[in-house]
Amino acid sequence: MCAVAKTRLEVQLAELEGRQGRIARDLAKPLNPDSSEQAVEMEDNDSLEGQAALVAREIASVKGALMRIENDTYGECVRCGAEIAPKRLAVRPEAALCFECASQER
Ligand SMILES: [Zn+2]
Repeated sequence: MCAVAKTRLEVQLAELEGRQGRIARDLAKPLNPDSSEQAVEMEDNDSLEGQAALVAREIASVKGALMRIENDTYGECVRCGAEIAPKRLAVRPEAALCFECASQER
């Protein structure tokens, strides 16, 4: 099951890094000199920055999960050490917390 999770995580990581690259390119684009357009683009950039932060967080959690596979602790809750339900891992292979700990986070 770890091998399957690893493949899924690697695919996910590649996809996220691709998205991160596209966001970075969009952010690097010079603003339109037309000022009315510029306001719109600034707003776009705000949401792009939000997306970039989100993607960076997802990349970190996927990398964390890959690291746990390496260290043979994959599937254990990083907080309480309990086994993370396989059903939960099937939905979110990068999950670092068991269901209980994750629901306490909110
Ligand atoms: Zn836990």
